[in-house]
Amino acid sequence: MTKVRTRFAPSPTGFPHVGNIRTALFAWLFARRHGGSFIIRIEDTDVARRVEGAVETILGSLRWLGLDWDEGPEVGGKYGPYFQSQRLDKYHEIAQQLISQGDAYHCYCSPQRLEEMRAEQVRHKQPSGYDRHCRELSQEERTKKEAEGIIPVVRFKTPLEGQTKFNDLIWGELVFENNTLDDFIMLKSDGYPTYHLANIVDDHLMEISHIIRAEEWLSSVPRHVLMYQALGFEPPNFAHLPMLLGADRSKLSKRHGAVSITEYYEQGYLPEAMVNFLALLGWSLDDRTEILSRQELIKNFSLERVSRTAAIFNRDKLNWMNGVYIRSLTADEFFEAAEPYLMMDRLAGEAVISSEEYVRNILPLVQERAKTLAEVAELTQFFFVEELDYAPNLLIGKNMSQESTSEALKTAQPRLEQLKVFDAESLEALLRPLAVELGLKTGQLFGALRTAVTGRTAAPPLFQTMAVLGKGRCLKRIEAALDRLTRMSR
Ligand code: GLU
Repeated sequence: MTKVRTRFAPSPTGFPHVGNIRTALFAWLFARRHGGSFIIRIEDTDVARRVEGAVETILGSLRWLGLDWDEGPEVGGKYGPYFQSQRLDKYHEIAQQLISQGDAYHCYCSPQRLEEMRAEQVRHKQPSGYDRHCRELSQEERTKKEAEGIIPVVRFKTPLEGQTKFNDLIWGELVFENNTLDDFIMLKSDGYPTYHLANIVDDHLMEISHIIRAEEWLSSVPRHVLMYQALGFEPPNFAHLPMLLGADRSKLSKRHGAVSITEYYEQGYLPEAMVNFLALLGWSLDDRTEILSRQELIKNFSLERVSRTAAIFNRDKLNWMNGVYIRSLTADEFFEAAEPYLMMDRLAGEAVISSEEYVRNILPLVQERAKTLAEVAELTQFFFVEELDYAPNLLIGKNMSQESTSEALKTAQPRLEQLKVFDAESLEALLRPLAVELGLKTGQLFGALRTAVTGRTAAPPLFQTMAVLGKGRCLKRIEAALDRLTRMSR
């Protein structure tokens, strides 16, 4: 096999969609699996649709996910430049070559004429596409048009009959009838190439061995193959990845929640979880294994195991997987990962700065429960607030009254105060027997204490939580809870 060279060729027309990043990941995995090169090429020839900052966001997303590239923006490489807008001369040269050999031609049709032609086709229920009006213009006619100052486009002269065949590594052999393809534009009148021309010229010049991209591009391949044939270039291998659908089986879009990969960063998904999840959108190891590390993915990735069936983007599965990855972090790793998210929250951020040790003690208490890193600040908020804010009736558990709750907290108060070592074990040793003494179920006493010290009915394990909060905070909060209960009765 020749050296594997794959590429990711985004158009900077917006923020990278999870589907684009899935494409990048598959191309990257294939290159890494075969010790090849992964190239990034920016397809920025659609001037009107270019979006400021899109390139940076795309590259930032790839970097976040650890998809490093061997050639492309920022790193360069001997096949550069890697921005199509800087390669216009190459496209003009190839277009000229195709014109000279009779495989392309100048077209002078005005937008109005094309508009009328389309309307006509619709009226007569004819297939759409250019009617080849300029395909056989004489030299004289051309000179006349040029003299009128019309700037032509360049169109490819698609064969009028025959078939174009190619093999896709995922879809097998595909056959297209040439008479269903029109004479498409290769070079626009603004001097920029269309996708078709720029894409094939660059894949050839950059010696791309495998084109791995989304299924939506499959219908462009016959045009590309015809151009490769006209130019005498060997076409690369093709692999078109199955579509991505939302849980309701419609094309993945905003309606299904976040589609821009940057939102997944913002919501606190771990890059390793994201890579694992995206890799399983259309590829599988064995139809069973869900958790695969980056190294395992590289070692096992193959196009043979890419399916043709559309892949479903299942948000619940992603959340589950992110939780698995979060739980697998060491305490230090979890702190490092959560820190930027805590810093975005005022109280948590202040705590990180003023008492990192305290925050480091808190985090393990929520590591089991957090599905995302962005959730961590919310789950731990009660550790950072000065005064808790909650409805007093949350203090009163099942089969408890205001009196019995007050009595329980009042009894607990001095005992907690006297406790020498305020750790989880000592707290448990004190509080379990206390429940018996008070004639309460442990749940009743612990529930009242939980609400008193956290302001919530669901919180991390009680004894650890109290230990981390510390004696001072716990007593103050129990006092405040008693106040609340008293005020209730007035
Ligand atoms: N620029 C195209 C895109 O935005 C590239 C398609 C291809 O990989 O050929 O997806």
